[in-house]
Amino acid sequence: MFQKILIANRGEIALRVLRACKELGIQTVVVHSTADSDAMHVRLADESVCIGPPPSRESYLNIHQIVAACEITGADAVHPGYGFLSENAKFADILAAHNITFIGPSGDHIRIMGDKIEAKRTAKRLGIPVVPGSDGAINEDKEAKRVAAEIGYPVIIKASAGGGGRGMKVAHTEADLEVALQTAKSEAGAAFGDDAVYIEKYLQKPRHIEVQVFGDGAGRGVHFGERDCSLQRRHQKVWEEANSPALNAEERSRIGDICAKAIADLGYSGAGTIEFLYENGEFYFIEMNTRLQVEHPVTEAITGIDLVHEQIRVASGGGLSVRQEDIKFNGHAIECRINAEDPRTFTPSPGTITHFHTPGGLGIRVDSGVYSGYKIPPYYDSLIGKLIVHGRNRVECMMRLRRALDEFVVDGIKTTLPLFRDLVGNPDIANGDYDIHWLEKYLAKGE
Ligand code: ADP
Repeated sequence: MFQKILIANRGEIALRVLRACKELGIQTVVVHSTADSDAMHVRLADESVCIGPPPSRESYLNIHQIVAACEITGADAVHPGYGFLSENAKFADILAAHNITFIGPSGDHIRIMGDKIEAKRTAKRLGIPVVPGSDGAINEDKEAKRVAAEIGYPVIIKASAGGGGRGMKVAHTEADLEVALQTAKSEAGAAFGDDAVYIEKYLQKPRHIEVQVFGDGAGRGVHFGERDCSLQRRHQKVWEEANSPALNAEERSRIGDICAKAIADLGYSGAGTIEFLYENGEFYFIEMNTRLQVEHPVTEAITGIDLVHEQIRVASGGGLSVRQEDIKFNGHAIECRINAEDPRTFTPSPGTITHFHTPGGLGIRVDSGVYSGYKIPPYYDSLIGKLIVHGRNRVECMMRLRRALDEFVVDGIKTTLPLFRDLVGNPDIANGDYDIHWLEKYLAKGE
């Protein structure tokens, strides 16, 4: 087992990882920017190293500084959290070259899945169902038109290097296609430094369903069931559930088994999430994330398994603590992402939190690094906490969620809490009857 882990992240996830390390009796080092000196995880860590000024590029994305911090403190492993360097293959390679363990998959696996065209090709080869579309990158209008005619309109043009919901354009007719292709290519080039794009069928009313997988790096793979993340705004997840209200037990184990087998065949190591769109009983692969997800706690709630413990175990060579048959799904869990944003316009609302009171009681978990008197810096994303609620079934979970949202107090800044208070009373949400467009339509109606 590791002696000392360096946590290369900030906010709630840095605290989440720190807690897991403490439970396992592992020493902790955190790196932080000058904007985060007062952060909760910095206060609680055994050691902290300030690695630069507020802009991420000069601190949380500064590989050189982070490796230096490992050397100075004698950390033998790095947990990257999510975002920042968590899916940076070069970072994983550099750590390996310094004999420091990256708590995640190999640089090669990150590379394959980070290139969406390559990821889709690999998924197909491993027997994972994919969205119908082009076999590789599309350059010419003629080629685009041929593929689009074959799969049928509407189609979506996606950047191979895309991420965070950016770099996608929908074309509803052949007349839209040329412009969509050119815009997607130039936007991808500008945003990601790689203008490769591909085409796939645009699914009209899908749900977003993702499967949590784990590999031990030695040919064993397991799945921890699915999460339904269909409630999205601008392709960003807002509310996540496990299990999905849309799947039955047969579908759950069918897609789970396909994913677990793929992970085993790939020789993958650590946590991963295989994302699908789901429509009319069919699953269509869209991408794989090679890291811990923001929404991992809903899976922890229904399985009772600490996924960060598993990541650390696997990375240290201890293997998985569970076999597939040990993983049982118990009840229902929902996560609300609480952002420091105006609940109507979604403009960020940084500033000082004058009062912070979190709900408690059976089945309630709050993952957050903020506290009363904490000043939210304006430099990073606006997630300030996650409320995760568990119940024996979805009805109990929703009752508990409504009560927990009523108890939650964040004063001094605007948050998205009022949005969740509205959602929890909505009949479609109560029935689990929503697709990936539901939330945007609801917000557009201004209810
Ligand atoms: P990113 O890496 O930027 O998050 P994804 O490929 O995961 O990109 O897609 C993000 C979101 O975009 C999906 O959750 C879905 O809402 C939408 N999307 C992606 N591909 C399609 C598609 N083929 N049809 C319809 N919607 C799609």
